[in-house]
Amino acid sequence: MDIKGKVALVTGASSGIGAATARKLAAEGIIVGLAARRKERLETLVAEIAAADGQAVALETDVTDPASCKIAAETLVAHFGRIDVLVNNAGLMPLSDIDSLKVDEWQRMVNVNVSGVLNATAAVLPQMISQHSGHIFNMSSIAGRKVFTGLTVYCATKAAVAAFSDGLRMEIGPKHNIRVTCIQPGAVKSELYEQITDANYRQQMDDLAASMTYLEGEDIADTILFALKSPERMNVAELFVLPTEQG
Ligand code: NDP
Repeated sequence: MDIKGKVALVTGASSGIGAATARKLAAEGIIVGLAARRKERLETLVAEIAAADGQAVALETDVTDPASCKIAAETLVAHFGRIDVLVNNAGLMPLSDIDSLKVDEWQRMVNVNVSGVLNATAAVLPQMISQHSGHIFNMSSIAGRKVFTGLTVYCATKAAVAAFSDGLRMEIGPKHNIRVTCIQPGAVKSELYEQITDANYRQQMDDLAASMTYLEGEDIADTILFALKSPERMNVAELFVLPTEQG
């Protein structure tokens, strides 16, 4: 499918997988709305994409706020007339044992990883429905397929993303011609571990990173492009992508 000239909104575009995805989409001629809270990071990426002859706009967005997501979507539509792609990528993974009762961190994970996906989806859906086309990518995780100790709440949020993706696809594919792809990466090099406040889990994650070659954000971006470039009749519903050494 020809994707040049399409318009995409990428949440969590200020680092890691989101930034890599924004770069790859822009290199394919897609106009990219970069949504995240750290505006300076987004502006640096806009400049980098422009220097490579791509087009991007910085959209300071907090995905936990439905109004903020709506403004991001409306700004894209006002400038470029449409939204073809949403990459629901923003997420947090502050690991800890349940009996540490880091309730604030649980709440932040639910707000960003689950409510954030719902808010951004609600923000773009009216436009995609009016176009009778679109493609929504939801970033779940290997942690959405199986549970790991210390990741209990994170796993619950990523299982929720997988369940939501299934239902969303069933509802809006047949009725509105909108594709939904759930992505479940294994370990990817990024800033995700910086959110971990529990010293033991931070050490465990650093040890894990030292034990194998992680995926790069670009690898996940490539899987997004694969699904996006598939013929319109074809919906790649799930992508489970692991480092070879993760098994
Ligand atoms: P990073 O920490 O590098 O990126 C997380 C992104 O989420 C940042 O751009 C951050 O931007 C954004 N974000 C956090 N909170 C908000 C918010 N309230 N509103 C808007 N944006 C927000 O990690 P990754 O790139 O690894 O993570 C991207 C996604 O991939 C996450 O959903 C993660 O769960 C998932 N994932 C990651 C894996 C990995 O091994 N790295 C494996 C499987 C899934 P800012 O702070 O500027 O708002």
